[in-house]
Amino acid sequence: MKKRILLLKIGQVDKIILVNLKKNLEWVFKDFQIKVRILPKELDLNNSYYHPEKRKYNADRIIEGMNEYLLDYDFFRVLGIVKEDIYSGTYNFIFGCAERIIAKIALISVIRLNEIFYNRTKDNSLFEKRILREAIHELGHTFGLFHCQDYCVMKFSNSLMEADNKPIRFCKNCLKKVEVFLSKT
Ligand SMILES: [Zn+2]
Ligand SMILES: [Zn+2]
Repeated sequence: MKKRILLLKIGQVDKIILVNLKKNLEWVFKDFQIKVRILPKELDLNNSYYHPEKRKYNADRIIEGMNEYLLDYDFFRVLGIVKEDIYSGTYNFIFGCAERIIAKIALISVIRLNEIFYNRTKDNSLFEKRILREAIHELGHTFGLFHCQDYCVMKFSNSLMEADNKPIRFCKNCLKKVEVFLSKT
């Protein structure tokens, strides 16, 4: 199968976010013969995924919805992008997540990556970098990587500061694992 990462717009996300992410991911994975494509049809953000008390969407339910949507597709990896706030399990909020069993699907939320969320001045280049970092992290999970303790994009983060302190790249060990994984896939 051709190694393609498909980007799926879920709900009302600005198209430019996907366009920039496509360009940036193609650059990051250029040595792996991975192409990135934006799926033409978006996925509606179903109201039943919404948790009124938490005022957030359930990430696991969104991933289920993505699975249903993708039933007829033969795909390598899909990364969904939402602009709404998401949570999973006991985590009050998450920046993103990946499927747990056969990990081919991942999801990121961009809302907390935007300075505007924290009532700070808009910074497009910072926003774009953060989106790329979280996208690589979640895709890394779909390439078989676990969390890493080194200075690495795969380090776990549950705050914006922790996220911003990660590099936008795999450490040597993780990169090696990705190479091995993708050579077998
Ligand atoms: Zn993670
Ligand atoms: Zn690492």
